[in-house]
Amino acid sequence: MNILDSELIQNQLLSKGHELVEDPKKANVVLYNTCSVRDLSEQKVLSRLGIDKQRKDNGEELIVGVLGCMAERTNTDILAKNPHIDILVGPSRLNEISGLLEKLSDKSIKRQIALSNFRFRKGKKLEHEPMDSLEALDAARLTHGKQRKSQAYIRITRGCNKFCSFCVVPKTRGPEVHRTIESIVKESKALVQSGVIEITLLGQTINHYPDFARLLREVHDQNLELKRLRFMTSHPRDFTDEMLDAMAMSERICKYLHIPAQSGSNTVLRRMNRGYTREIYMDLIHRAKAKMPGISLLGDMIVGFPGETEEDFEASLSLLKEVRYQNVFIFKYSPRPGTVADKNLPDDIPWDLKKKRNNKMLEFQKQISLAEHQKALGQILNILVEGPAKNGDVMQGRTEGDQIVLFKGGERLIGKLVKVKIQDATALSLMGEVI
Ligand code: SF4
Repeated sequence: MNILDSELIQNQLLSKGHELVEDPKKANVVLYNTCSVRDLSEQKVLSRLGIDKQRKDNGEELIVGVLGCMAERTNTDILAKNPHIDILVGPSRLNEISGLLEKLSDKSIKRQIALSNFRFRKGKKLEHEPMDSLEALDAARLTHGKQRKSQAYIRITRGCNKFCSFCVVPKTRGPEVHRTIESIVKESKALVQSGVIEITLLGQTINHYPDFARLLREVHDQNLELKRLRFMTSHPRDFTDEMLDAMAMSERICKYLHIPAQSGSNTVLRRMNRGYTREIYMDLIHRAKAKMPGISLLGDMIVGFPGETEEDFEASLSLLKEVRYQNVFIFKYSPRPGTVADKNLPDDIPWDLKKKRNNKMLEFQKQISLAEHQKALGQILNILVEGPAKNGDVMQGRTEGDQIVLFKGGERLIGKLVKVKIQDATALSLMGEVI
């Protein structure tokens, strides 16, 4: 979501005559688009802000902005500790940035703040942000995008109504607001016409979009040139058979689900306020596998959630074994200020034990990922080429199931779909040869 937000902000500013520089030290406007999901990402922003303070202290003319979830979450706290911040903008008001920058060009005008201060009562939303203003930001890329790209994100929903007890997102991004099917389809068509061959639809709980199955079918059916359609992230509750059928019956929708379980223990799931049981989760997995044999599954798990016993942790391991994900993102729980878990559930699992469980789960999943990857040996798979791999002199691309594939090839293949015969597999990636 933040990658897309940054791209849209960049387009908005380019269209107003700003220029992008490679080296932030040479910029006279520095904007941080931030994430609050984990403490680590916030710490990184604070340390970068220190560098900007030094520049300002040295007399450089510089505008510093903090955007996104950290701005919304920390609000006046971050300003008190970092008085050199000039702009503070929450994720629901990103469309206002260029106007705020313009105001700051008048030296008599001081700091600009645009936050939403979402408030909730007994878990119910009190206010809705109008979508119209943000819609303009989403559309900006269509008219001002300069680069010809093969992959693109489209946001279909902003915010989240789920209130998992550990998560800051509903407070920072606010309640769910959905874009219309018409505007999403229109955006998809424009992107496909500009050369995009893979679209990923984005939403915090994407399958909560009203009539999500119809949306999938419309984007798929109205873009015959589109080679791949994906979506993320799905919430295990409310995933209907109609949605699975739309996936199964639409040839170019990737048979791939990012479907976080977070825990395999019903006691922990209840404390997390996830709104489903292990049985409901597994029922979805079985339905998905029955309709789409070979579907690729990606999971998220939290270890060391308050009160997690050895038994609860073992239940999470057994869930991994039962589901057989291609890959799982594993997080050690850390309390986030302002969440229900932070207020009501003591963070009682020692850090060392969280680390131990994290490592044990990683090792456990590694064997499953390896076995799942080995199923591809000898197969010829369609790979969308992304670019040179980080390590080594090979290219990297992804399968329909989002597996990473490494192979020898030239840069001219970037952005193209190629066929690769898989010759080797590790827990993290596949290796092969272009045929
Ligand atoms: S579904 Fe839960 S974890 Fe996901 S964004 Fe919403 S509150 Fe956060």
